[in-house]
Amino acid sequence: MEEISLRTKLNIGANSLDSLLKITGQKVFIIADPFIVQSGIVSEVTNRLHSNHNEYLIFSDIIPDPPIETVTIGVKALQEFYPSVLIAIGGGSAIDTAKAIKEFSIRLFKQENDLKFIAIPTTSGTGSEVTSFSVITDQEKHVKYPLIADSLLPDEAILDPNLVISVPPVITADTGLDVLTHALEAYVSTNANDFSDALAEKAFQLIFDYLLRCYNNGKDIEAREKVHYASCLAGMAFNIAGLGVNHGIAHACGAQFHIPHGRMNALLLTAVIEYNADLKGFSNSTQTLTAQKYAQLAKKSGFSSSNIRSGVTSLIQHIQQLKKDLNMPQNLRACGLTYEQLMKSLETITEAALKDGCTKANPRLPTTNDIEAIVKQ
Ligand code: NAD
Repeated sequence: MEEISLRTKLNIGANSLDSLLKITGQKVFIIADPFIVQSGIVSEVTNRLHSNHNEYLIFSDIIPDPPIETVTIGVKALQEFYPSVLIAIGGGSAIDTAKAIKEFSIRLFKQENDLKFIAIPTTSGTGSEVTSFSVITDQEKHVKYPLIADSLLPDEAILDPNLVISVPPVITADTGLDVLTHALEAYVSTNANDFSDALAEKAFQLIFDYLLRCYNNGKDIEAREKVHYASCLAGMAFNIAGLGVNHGIAHACGAQFHIPHGRMNALLLTAVIEYNADLKGFSNSTQTLTAQKYAQLAKKSGFSSSNIRSGVTSLIQHIQQLKKDLNMPQNLRACGLTYEQLMKSLETITEAALKDGCTKANPRLPTTNDIEAIVKQ
């Protein structure tokens, strides 16, 4: 038996931010990315709240790879304000911070669980608005922890493409590759099923059809909308199926080197596909099944795939080409990291990746040597 949670109500499309107009006479705690405050996007939210006699407070101490310390400060601020509605607006870092703040408020201070939680993503990448995950960083130990609980799921999400027009090309590329990694890891996960496959296939196709358009012209609202939906679809896919070793290693490396999450995933992606498909082996039936799924996705996407091996190879080549078109770095050195720096942290990275909650759903259970080989590649 399997369970699929469909808790989050989605408000989608241009101007879906207007769905906030139904909030009246409430105390609203807004957790916002600092860029969203500085750029004036947050006033799109507060103007709508203001017109319906809501009281609000903005908390914007958000930093990428949100640390435990920010969550602690946020819990205190939330307790003092004691809101009835919580709105998170920003990228995955803002939404994950809000999820953790809400969760710890409920656990530590018995904040009533009827605090309504609305997530408004302003990047198209993490799908955090529909997932039971919140990724928090322990800066002292250099570890990123995915907290996983259904209680982290937002009640509502607003997917308004107008909010992602300002995302610069480099963040568009990084976050778009995060979506692709979510779709691919969910697709071959040990927990994949027909529901997660359908969501992952659509997300994958939308990224290949529209991401480059967003990168070349951020104001292309049709492409922005499709990639924003792809992010949410991929989030729904991995919320059902889980992720894999790509994310396990990305969390471990991200905590050490603070490379943007999507870029870190992208750096590992083709090495992980090669490893999961075991292009050299094809002896174990599970591995063959994984290779078959990659090849199936390549075929559905119109990539050349006369047999399983050529399907997997063409999938890898198309991803490499997309990364090239998006001017993404090809290796850690291009991200400013030396070989010596990497070697110094390799043992810590490998240990953390093996323990990471995401690694469990990978179709091949990696060994220490496997992880080291992927990172070195
Ligand atoms: P982010 O939230 O860190 O934002 C990246 C940058 O984009 C920031 O500088 C931010 O200010 C800027 N930004 C945000 N919206 C913008 C806009 N509309 N215009 C211009 N700039 C904008 O990055 P992210 O990739 O969205 O989130 C990454 C975090 O999410 C990582 O910590 C990662 O581990 C986590 N994550 C969580 C989940 C989940 O399910 N909870 C899944 C994947 C990743």
